[in-house]
Amino acid sequence: MNDKIADLAALRAQKRRAKRKCPVCRKPASEASRPFCSEQCRRIDLDRWRTEAYRIPVAENDEEDSVPKPAADNDEES
Ligand SMILES: [Zn+2]
Repeated sequence: MNDKIADLAALRAQKRRAKRKCPVCRKPASEASRPFCSEQCRRIDLDRWRTEAYRIPVAENDEEDSVPKPAADNDEES
């Protein structure tokens, strides 16, 4: 009875998955190395990520500037 709904959900999931693109080179991602298109791109992204992570702690005098919190929009969080 629910076969159609299940089918639809599967189809949607498939479509969504097909839309996924490799964040490195924008080619369609492959099942094996999602969300990347290949192991190579996975490694490139990891490398990038690592160099970014190393670079971030270098910020020195930004501490005072990084805490401007507008009090108006904070109603939902406590
Ligand atoms: Zn790629």
